[in-house]
Amino acid sequence: RRLRVGILFGGRSGEHEVSLMSARSVFEAMDRRRFEPVPIGITREGLWILPHDAPGLLKAGRGVEPGDGIPLAVVPGPQGSRLLLLEAGGGAGSSAAGGAGEDGAPVQGRRLEPLDVVFPVLHGTFGEDGTVQGLLELAGIPYVGAGVMASAVGMDKAVMKELFRARGLPVVPFLVVTAARWRREPAAVLDAIEQSLGYPCFTKPANLGSSVGITRCPDRVALEAGLAEAFAYDRKVVVERGVDARELEISVLGNDDPVASVPGEIRPRDAFYTYRAKYTEGGSELIVPAPLPPRVVEEMQRLAIAAFQAIDAAGLARVDFFLERATGRLLVNEINTIPGFTVLSMYPKLWEAAGLPYRDLITRLIELALERHGERA
Ligand code: ADP
Ligand code: MG
Ligand code: MG
Repeated sequence: RRLRVGILFGGRSGEHEVSLMSARSVFEAMDRRRFEPVPIGITREGLWILPHDAPGLLKAGRGVEPGDGIPLAVVPGPQGSRLLLLEAGGGAGSSAAGGAGEDGAPVQGRRLEPLDVVFPVLHGTFGEDGTVQGLLELAGIPYVGAGVMASAVGMDKAVMKELFRARGLPVVPFLVVTAARWRREPAAVLDAIEQSLGYPCFTKPANLGSSVGITRCPDRVALEAGLAEAFAYDRKVVVERGVDARELEISVLGNDDPVASVPGEIRPRDAFYTYRAKYTEGGSELIVPAPLPPRVVEEMQRLAIAAFQAIDAAGLARVDFFLERATGRLLVNEINTIPGFTVLSMYPKLWEAAGLPYRDLITRLIELALERHGERA
């Protein structure tokens, strides 16, 4: 029997569209001899739907709308009973998106055949951050990628960097500012940033990705605007010293004994690696493998695995670095637990370069999900 693999895509995230691009590639490439892909879309409001036409929806790339399929009630059943996916709206009083009805009465609706494993191809909030992973844990269903804690830590740049620093991994100097403090004492916040970081600095929402809400700030006026922009997305903002550096990325694969790929390099056309540079055709150049001396490659691989283990990741992660031009120093910028996953994305490209084709990478990730689940069961 083929394994039914739920492919979750879309989601309540600023990276909704990016997820569709990744999910389209995963859906198209998944080995049909071993797996039966079951694409499940999540709207920007968080409604789960079983698409009428999944390939069409993934190709359209416009995002998941409630009318695109049958709304599902998602209920984590008793332990080990897997995720219950019900066609919502059966019984009177049960809300379409709800789950259990009022008074805890079970939702009416046709129960869909259970999934054997889930591949959350979701980037950013409510998908890459441990929330969906928590739901899948409750349901006792194996899933691709990091668990709840690693996902949450990987999503929160403040906690991630504090943890990296505590483990002795080299990171850029940074400060964390909360919205409450920014409201209370803006001048003191600006002074503290100027004193400890200087210009240029970068302002980032703590929990986001794809460069959304990130600003390069060359002076105090820009810093104020950058903070305001970042606070539009999160109540916690990370401010970092800006470095003049090459941008390098490396893919990590595995559970308890992870391996690192060769590094790749990003050369963005914009002043930094912005959303536009990431997702528009020709917005940046991806160089695989990155031209680097073997000593730097080995150091990157060591640091990437250390970063993966620092957050206790599983399955996959992409670890991103800065190689400072002036000093030649390597700095760990971040770890992404569900990195961009289109055929053209850096994560799979690096494995292709190592001799692992995209289709086989997906198979390997599903195997790792099952292995990890088996070890805990
Ligand atoms: P995201 O999770 O959105 O990718 P990053 O922290 O990787 O956030 O920042 C996005 C991009 O912004 C980086 O790839 C880089 O181009 C630029 N950037 C971020 N922080 C710095 C920094 N401290 N110095 C120089 N450039 C930075
Ligand atoms: Mg990121
Ligand atoms: Mg990044």
